[in-house]
Amino acid sequence: MSAGAAAETVTIGDLRRQAWDLLRDAGIVNVARETDWLLASALGVPSHALILEGERPVSALQAVQAWSLLRRRTAREPLQYILGTQEFRGLDIAVTPDVLIPRPETELLVEEALRAVADCAEPAIADVGTGSGCIAVAIACERPGATVYALDLSGGALAVARSNATRHGTRDRIRFIQADLLEAFGGESAGAFDAIVSNPPYIAEQELDALQPEVARYEPRMALAAGPDGLVFYRRLLREAPPLLKPGGRLIMELGFGQSEAVIQLVRQSGAFDSVECRKDAAGIERVLVARVGAGGVRGS
Ligand code: GLN
Repeated sequence: MSAGAAAETVTIGDLRRQAWDLLRDAGIVNVARETDWLLASALGVPSHALILEGERPVSALQAVQAWSLLRRRTAREPLQYILGTQEFRGLDIAVTPDVLIPRPETELLVEEALRAVADCAEPAIADVGTGSGCIAVAIACERPGATVYALDLSGGALAVARSNATRHGTRDRIRFIQADLLEAFGGESAGAFDAIVSNPPYIAEQELDALQPEVARYEPRMALAAGPDGLVFYRRLLREAPPLLKPGGRLIMELGFGQSEAVIQLVRQSGAFDSVECRKDAAGIERVLVARVGAGGVRGS
């Protein structure tokens, strides 16, 4: 915008064209859609109004708000943090920089968890590293008889997860616990869970900086980094989960690209499970691992 532009009347259509150029020059891929989402949010109107009311003038304040959101996006801040929301299994999930943005492939984890407890009357399910709470809230919404334990080490993440549970009317069926993986559960919780679900951090430390800038610069490192080989949280979950599972209970974990063989190997080495299988995502990547403990359960270790 030139200095003289402030004196002219700026319409929604003008703003839309300028925003489009700005985002395109910044290398944003989905220019058309992102422009409209950001402008709709800044102007407080539905996206279709941007097209239907292109001649309508915008106030100076609205223009300032719009440019502020657009500049955040050109600095590669993820669209979801700017808009404050991401859709997950049909639910509007609030997100802040304290939590990982829910990914579409994680919806498979919810599907597998629901399948694992299909025959349980009132299943108890733990979601380890709940982040935004997307998994816990989706399970609680889709399986009204379930009690879900949502755990995270980050207090900031738990605050976001609680707000998502409230937003979707599941607050009374999700217990939130601040803890490092499953350490909050002692011997009294042995055999308490029908399923333990987790989308743990799984990126090797040295690969973090090579991720796209939206992820590397803005998403919480704590939700991504998983030691020198990307497997540290799988090793811990495979040790901590079995004693807490009921006989026949399942540990269901999301996997990173190319990790399935290594994690299947870890499952076999643990000796705690009697079956293991993986499920591919839409891109053909082995994305979700389901490991089942034997019908005799696991003796306390
Ligand atoms: N469970 C959350 C999700 O799937 C957070 C995962 C994480 O922080 N690693 O989005």
